[in-house]
Formats: sequence, structure tokens, C-alpha cells
Amino acid sequence: MAASTHPIDLRDLAFVLFEELQIQDRFKDFPEYSSFDKDFYMSTVEEMARIAREVIAPLNAVGDREGCHFDGKGNVRTPTGFPEAFRLLGEGGWISISAMPDMGGMGLPYTLGVATTELRSGANVAFSIYAGLTHGVGNLLATFGTPWMQQIVVPKLYSGTWAGTMLLTEAGAGSSVGENRTRAVPTGEEGRYLLEGEKLFISGGDQDLTENIVHIVLARVPDAPPGTKGLSIFLVPKFLINPDGSLGARNGIEVTGVEEHKMGIHGSATCTLALGAGEPCHAWRIGDEGVGMKIMFHLMNEARLEVAIQGVGTSSAAYLYARRYALERLQGVDLTSMHEEHPPQVPIVQHPDVRRMLMTMRVLSETMRSFVYTIAYHADMARSHPDPAERERHQDIVELYIPIGKAHCSDTAFELTRLAIQVLGGYGYISDYPVEQYLRDTKISSIYEGTNGIQGMDLLGRKLRIKNGMLFVTWLQEMTRTLEASKGVGFDDEVAALEHARDDIGASAMHLMQMAMAGRIPAAMYQASPFLTQFGTFLLGAHALRQAVVAQAALDGGAHETAFYNGKILNLKFYVANVLPQVEALGRVVRSQEESALDETLFAEE
Ligand SMILES: Cc1cc2nc3c(=O)[nH]c(=O)nc-3n(C[C@H](O)[C@H](O)[C@H](O)COP(=O)(O)OP(=O)(O)OC[C@H]3O[C@@H](n4cnc5c(N)ncnc54)[C@H](O)[C@@H]3O)c2cc1C
Repeated sequence: MAASTHPIDLRDLAFVLFEELQIQDRFKDFPEYSSFDKDFYMSTVEEMARIAREVIAPLNAVGDREGCHFDGKGNVRTPTGFPEAFRLLGEGGWISISAMPDMGGMGLPYTLGVATTELRSGANVAFSIYAGLTHGVGNLLATFGTPWMQQIVVPKLYSGTWAGTMLLTEAGAGSSVGENRTRAVPTGEEGRYLLEGEKLFISGGDQDLTENIVHIVLARVPDAPPGTKGLSIFLVPKFLINPDGSLGARNGIEVTGVEEHKMGIHGSATCTLALGAGEPCHAWRIGDEGVGMKIMFHLMNEARLEVAIQGVGTSSAAYLYARRYALERLQGVDLTSMHEEHPPQVPIVQHPDVRRMLMTMRVLSETMRSFVYTIAYHADMARSHPDPAERERHQDIVELYIPIGKAHCSDTAFELTRLAIQVLGGYGYISDYPVEQYLRDTKISSIYEGTNGIQGMDLLGRKLRIKNGMLFVTWLQEMTRTLEASKGVGFDDEVAALEHARDDIGASAMHLMQMAMAGRIPAAMYQASPFLTQFGTFLLGAHALRQAVVAQAALDGGAHETAFYNGKILNLKFYVANVLPQVEALGRVVRSQEESALDETLFAEE
């Protein structure tokens, strides 16, 4: 099995895009998407699946084995095949698939872009990171950049001729971005600065994939206030950019090292960069001084959604590899023939415990796909809907869901890859099979783009407070209507369980907000991660329901693929019985008032 083709579940992708979200109908009245139809969308996804299978996936193990290397003279080499594959992505327009055509993008809906991102991430996360960041930086500059950035830099990024990075982290500034110390000294020329500092752990900080790199850097101008309010944001090119777009001299931003000994994503160059240590580091400000974090959030939100979709891609691939193995591996006998004299060995897929693991992986990866594509769908609506009130409503949902998507999908993906290894037994633990690499590669998702702990705090401390809590109340009301509308089609018991779980989420949110209002901030934040997991566990259940309702309607309408649609109904039943009860258990945790870990006598220095 190790050498066989990379598995992809195109049928399920198509189900979410065209039967659940119905993008071919819901987007067709928007002028920018009116020329696209279902066939075009599907053929785009199929072509990306082909590239993922034939070009990107075969580089996954290569990248893991070879890693990235620093030559000690300011250059990084990526694994064999990465430069050619990146060029192919750029030339095919895949990096800018959902960017607007007036900036050089392909202009497809973001929802479809997310589907293609899932395919490349599932094939090779480490490789995919270069493309994701490049797309994100292109979008940031398309929105906030100066005219020359938009005219010269954005098309180079969208075509993959240049790549993008984001530089936040420093030795003393990880989660606490406000501690950034990189200095931005004005040159006297409006908008141009010289930067001095050091940035750590920068993905794609240097590479040999593209002719230039555009770094987006947070730094502090003289006399700026402390914390995030004092941060400004800059464009720093690896090679200076002439007015006609040609490349000038190398800028004073130098790679001084690459993390060669890390757990996973070996093919992604994680670099230390020195700014202005030797030659001056020229930088151009984006937006006004002091609005750096506001602008960076544009990139970070997209990057957080990209992390969520990485979780979907990894999970789906790990599940499909495990399923394939379970169908082939003969071991043990059927429970019902154990007492026969010479019972034949059966494929391990017949053992109930293996089936439970596979089902857990299946239902989680499919509901995560539905959830994350839905976030992208709301982002499309927030961008394109003609009614400003509707745009705002959709953007609110995106804001609420992003920390949940980022954290819950990355945590779930790690758990899922653990199960994939378990399904393969000892063979899962060795690197002849791909699943142990998936586990190592996916771990970073819960750490970068804001650790999952920080996502929990964002959900509780910022998102639940949007519009004085009315965003959450509106969400509860909408969810109530959705559940009500799902009654009477054969799943009333499951709907009742979800209604109960919804009430539990409401009770937890209310409890935590009351604690915060009473000034008990540490006690509230102590429960932020369990609350996020509780919320995410409910949401995946709601998506299992939505999929089952769509599937039931298809069956009622005489659809032929009965096994596929019936599978969605079985997903719902499994999820409600085996996963959803965690919502109630987590609710008890969140509202327990138990605070023993906050006791100051614990964790004293050794
Ligand atoms: C492979 C890799 C690639 C990366 N790519 C990039 C990149 O491209 N650009 C970039 O800028 N950075 C990048 N990073 C850095 C990454 O974003 C940081 O590692 C991450 O933000 C956490 O910062 P830290 O490592 O300093 O951990 P810390 O901030 O020290 O956190 C350690 C632990 O403490 C918790 N914690 C910290 N502060 C708080 C708080 N206030 N409240 C509650 N809990 C808290 C965290 O949740 C975490 O569990 C990358 C890192 C790695 C390993």
C-alpha cells in the first residue's frame, strides 16, 4: 500500500459544494460568478485533484526525508521537486484561484478555492504552506497596499513568480505579539523605513521556489505606544523592487538559520531572519502607523482558515489511507466464526473496534469539511452579497467561527491521525506508511497562527462580546430555526439531542460571560479551551444533521447512490450517540466552578 496512489474523496467534496451549499445556484446571481456553472466548478476541482495526486502527493515523503537546508551564506534549498511543483501551481493560476481577476486572480468563489486548498494540503501540508501564505499576502496587499504594491507586487504573488511570508514572531514575542521589538526607523521619505530586529520561526522565510520573496513584517516606529497599538506593518522584499517591477539589489534581510530538526513539515523552511544586521533593511509601510495589527488580522484570519482546511485535508487523507489498509490487511478471525476449527483470517475492517475507529475518522473528517467549507461560503457571501446587512451578517458568522475552525479542526485532525496510526497497528508507527508523517505534520496546526489556547481566549474574550453579545444571541436564534426546520424528516431524536446540546452551549456562554462581568477573568479564561471544544463538538454535530437532511431528501427523490446517502444518515446517528455526549460533559466542566489549577501553591519552582 505504501507506494499506491494518494486517496481523495471527490464524491464527498462534490456533495458539500453542490448538494449542501449549492454554490452553483446560490452564487450564480452575483455578477462576478455568473459565467461559472457546476461543470466548470467540478472540472476545476478534478484538475486540482489530479495535480494533488500526480505532482504534490509524491513529494510528501520526499520533503519529509530531505527537509530544507541552509548553505550558511543566506540561501535555503527546499526538497527535490518543490520548485517545479510550485511553478506549476503558479502557472496554472492555482495560487490566486479565488482572487479577483483585475489583480491577476482567477476570480472563482473562495468556497471553491478552499476545496482546492484541501486537496493540496491533504497531499502535502509542508508544500502547501508556501502557496497559502503567498495567496494571503497577495490578498492583504490587494486590499491595503499602496498603488505600486497593487500594480507590481500583487500580480507577481498571484502568479507564484514571487512568494509571501508573514513575520510576527520574535524570541520574546510569540503569543504576545505586542512584545514585538523590531524597530522601524523613518528614512525621511514618506512611507519608507529601515528595519532592525530578528524574527524567528518564519515559514518560507527563504527558499529557492521563487525569484523574490515579499515579507510582511510587524515592527515599531520610534515613540510608538507599547503593546499591539504601537505596531505598524511593512512590506520588506528579499530583493529590492525597481519601479518597472524588475529586481534590484539584495535587501538587508538575511536568513541566518533554518530549523532542520523539527517534528514535522520538514519540507517547509522554518527560518530565522536578521533584519538590518549587515546591509540596511528597506521597508515600505502598509496603511498608517499604528494600524499594523488591524491589517495583519486580515492575513491572520485567512491563515487561520487555511489551518482549519489543512486539518480537513490531513484528516481526510489519513482516514482514507487507514480505510484502504483496513480493507487489505488480514489479521484475526471474525467474532462469529471464532469457535470453528480453522476459521479464516479476515480483513481487519471486519473487527468492531477497527470499524469504530474508522467511523470516528470518517464522521469527523466529513463534518469538518462541511463546517470549514461553510465558513468559506459565509466569507463569499460577506464579500459579494448585494445587501450590506446580509454582508454584515455573514461576516459576523465568519468572525465567530474562525477561532473554532482553527482550533477545533487542528485538534481533531491530530486525534484523527492518531487513530489512523492505531488502525495500521505497528505498520502505522513506521515510516514505510504515510500516516505517522501525517500525525507529525499536523501537530503544528494547533501551535502556529495563534496557539489553540489563544483561539479559545479570542472566542471568549472577543468574539462572544461582539455587539455586546448580540452576535452570539443571533447565532443561537438562527441555530434554533435551523434545528426546528430539520424536524419531521426522520431524525427527530437526533434533532432533540442537538437542541439539548445547543442549550448547553448557551448555558456555558452565559455562565462565562457572567463570570467575566463579575471581574473573574482568570476563572473564565481557565474554561476558554473546554468551551471552544464544546462549541466545536456541537457545530460538527449540526453539520452531520444538515448532511443527513440533504441525503434523506436525495433518497426520497429517488437518488441511485443509496450507499453514499445512507452513509450520511449513519454518520449522524453515530455522531449523536458517540461524539455529541461530549458537549454535555464539557458543559459540566465549563460550568463546574472548579478552579484548583489556579491555586497559587501549585507549580511552584522546583
Ligand atoms: C514550524 C513553525 C512555523 C511557524 N511559522 C511562523 C510564521 O510563518 N510567522 C510567524 O510569525 N511565526 C511563525 N511561527 C511561530 C508561531 O506562530 C509561534 O510559535 C506561536 O505563536 C507560539 O509562540 P511561542 O512559540 O513563543 O509560544 P508561547 O507564546 O511561549 O506559548 C507557549 C504556551 O503558552 C500559552 N500562552 C502563551 N501566552 C498565553 C496567554 N496570554 N494566555 C494563555 N496562554 C498563553 C500558549 O498557548 C502555549 O500553549 C511558526 C512556528 C513554528 C514552530
